[in-house]
Amino acid sequence: MAAPAGDDKPFLEVEGLVVRYGAVEALHGVDLVARHGTITALIGANGAGKSTLLRTICGLARPAAGSIRFEGKDIAELPPHEIVEAGIAMSPEGRRLFPDMSVEENLMLGAFTRKDAAAIARDRKRALELFPRVRERLHQRAGTLSGGEQQMVAMARALMADPRLLLLDEPSLGLSPILVGTIFKTIVEIAKTGTTVLLVEQNARRALEVAETAYVLETGKIVTSGGAAKLLEDPAVRAAYLGG
Ligand code: ATP
Repeated sequence: MAAPAGDDKPFLEVEGLVVRYGAVEALHGVDLVARHGTITALIGANGAGKSTLLRTICGLARPAAGSIRFEGKDIAELPPHEIVEAGIAMSPEGRRLFPDMSVEENLMLGAFTRKDAAAIARDRKRALELFPRVRERLHQRAGTLSGGEQQMVAMARALMADPRLLLLDEPSLGLSPILVGTIFKTIVEIAKTGTTVLLVEQNARRALEVAETAYVLETGKIVTSGGAAKLLEDPAVRAAYLGG
């Protein structure tokens, strides 16, 4: 199921990233690289700092030190909407839909920085092909969708920004086993179309199965990284994250 190998151009490069919330240091100098066209998985226990890393990449938290380069350009100081325009979109943990708006309206919010109507229509078509269930629910109020359907809308909405880098925070959280399978298949499909994916997951086994490269974050530090297939066999990773 793994996505095709990407090329070696510098794509996303995080170096020495430190993030603090007041007196709490959530990330203590994180280094991470995501290669173009691949899926990179980030796994770790609750509170390790995974969401903080994604939020910092998309400008919602600010680094106290370190750098974030995207396609060679330093983006760490850019406001969030400029980071979206630069080609990065996130599907956040907990989905964050507007419950009183329709699915269609939520979807189109993902394109809020864009003006090219033809390109937006093309991406809407692509998102609805990837998520047929979303197409069936377009006129329904988002707050009345099931958890799995809300997850699909959140991912489809992120794709409406036409990102070259898609950040996914816990896409399988709270979903039934069948829907988990669907979501992971769709993530592989998305990567196959050339969109690079950085995937944060509690479901470490599934994440390592679809990723090319993976990082393990523990209390704000990367403790292990490498080929995802190799980490699936790593005794320490197995004991801590794969149930032995
Ligand atoms: P989970 O898997 O539970 O979502 P995570 O790995 O995504 O966890 P983060 O949400 O990034 O972890 O949190 C990392 C640390 O930073 C935690 O100790 C958390 O309590 C702290 N933290 C996160 N957001 C804030 C905030 N806004 N203010 C203060 N501390 C925060």
